Amino acid sequence: VYSEGTASGVEEVLLKQTCVPPACEEKPLAAEAARPVQIVLTDDEEHRFELDEGALESVLMQEHVRDLDVVVVSVAGAFRKGKSFLLDFMLRYVYNQESSFWLGKDNDPLTGFTWRGGCERETTGIQVWSEVFVVDKPDGSKVAVLLVDTQGAFDSQSTIKDCATVFALSTMTSSVQVSTCHNNLLTKMELFTEYGRLAMEEIYKKPFQKLMFLIRDWSYPYEHPYGLEGGKRFLEKRLQVKQNQHEELQNVRKHIHSCFSNISCFLLPHPGLKVATNPCFDGRLRDIDDDFKKELENLVPLLLSPENLVVKEIGGAKVTCRDLVQYFKAYIKIYQGEELPHPKSMLQATAEANNLAAVAGAKDSYTRSMEQVCGGDKPYIAPADLERSHEELKQSSIRQFRAVKKMGGEEFCRRYQEQLESELDEAYASFIKHNDSKNIFYAARTPATLFAVMFA
Ligand code: GDP
Ligand code: MG
Repeated sequence: VYSEGTASGVEEVLLKQTCVPPACEEKPLAAEAARPVQIVLTDDEEHRFELDEGALESVLMQEHVRDLDVVVVSVAGAFRKGKSFLLDFMLRYVYNQESSFWLGKDNDPLTGFTWRGGCERETTGIQVWSEVFVVDKPDGSKVAVLLVDTQGAFDSQSTIKDCATVFALSTMTSSVQVSTCHNNLLTKMELFTEYGRLAMEEIYKKPFQKLMFLIRDWSYPYEHPYGLEGGKRFLEKRLQVKQNQHEELQNVRKHIHSCFSNISCFLLPHPGLKVATNPCFDGRLRDIDDDFKKELENLVPLLLSPENLVVKEIGGAKVTCRDLVQYFKAYIKIYQGEELPHPKSMLQATAEANNLAAVAGAKDSYTRSMEQVCGGDKPYIAPADLERSHEELKQSSIRQFRAVKKMGGEEFCRRYQEQLESELDEAYASFIKHNDSKNIFYAARTPATLFAVMFA
């Protein structure tokens, strides 16, 4: 079979194989290593937002996490506010939780979200860590933890909308939002509350969960001490409603409490001159001030220790990784227009995503159970039996859909139930086809039908 040229051909192949530098062979492995993944990006000219659905799904639909309730910890703020820096320490905590020295060794450079080899372009958008962490909570439940880096640019008028959008997206999709800022608390709060106001009218519960203001470079520890306690007093003072204040400001202050279940503030000291000014600084602990490290050790567990993890809820119902994909898809849509969306349309999108997530979950249960009955590795079954299974599983899938707490009212939900039903029927049709195809193979082995097939 082999031609004359074969010998040299084989040699050539062998040669090629031995010539591949090991670095190249390792590439796929390195590419699979955990890394930041950009899921929402904006283009600079049109200021349009895009969701990279493939990237989002590659992270959230991983088999071992997709059906777990999700904890979304998002760090938001403008550029160069130390977000990636903080997130990298959060990563260290998650990866080394067992150790009491999770902060790391003195001379280890900091890696993680900063992993971009110096040529970091300042894109507005949202990045997530590709590895979703599975954590056992003290109450015995397993949750999935997603870390999110959110970046908005405050550099010119044209980007204000981008920034507000990124903030709103981050607020709506996270369960714990860390907002890094200096003392400009109130501008931030306006952004948050603008988007919280909406939901309030129709949702009985506070729409958002945990918000932590992280004040960097706090330099008045004698006034309010570093950490959570000092932050609490600082925040109380800032949130005090005074008679002589502008009405708008009064409203923001009153409103923020009705938007978040838990609002806190943490005062972080300055990390030291090396961190702030040395261009060669690579994050090693040796170069960071002790005060800062001490507070960091208090701060990160407040956000990420198993007992402090807060599962994402929307409309009072817990959200899984799979659901979160639907919410991202729905929310991004309403931000693709020219104007900032009206609160009503956000509520609408939430209700839509909420129902779509319930459809996806219910359909998945149906498909998985049907696979048990007539999947690829199962033998042919009688059509009547298949139909019976379908009817049973369809009903239980619908029951599952109906049991999920949904928004938008009965009539709205009914539309999605109809969608579910027709998707189940479609799936059933393809199960039937698949089952029938097994029948022909099966039948073909008996001589009588073999003839029938041959001469048909
Ligand atoms: P990001 O753009 O918000 O992700 O900011 P980075 O994490 O990349 O940090 C921007 C710069 O701020 C880096 O040079 C850090 O070393 C420095 N930095 C990080 N945290 C702090 C902080 O708390 N205070 C000060 N002054 N600088 C910080
Ligand atoms: Mg960054």
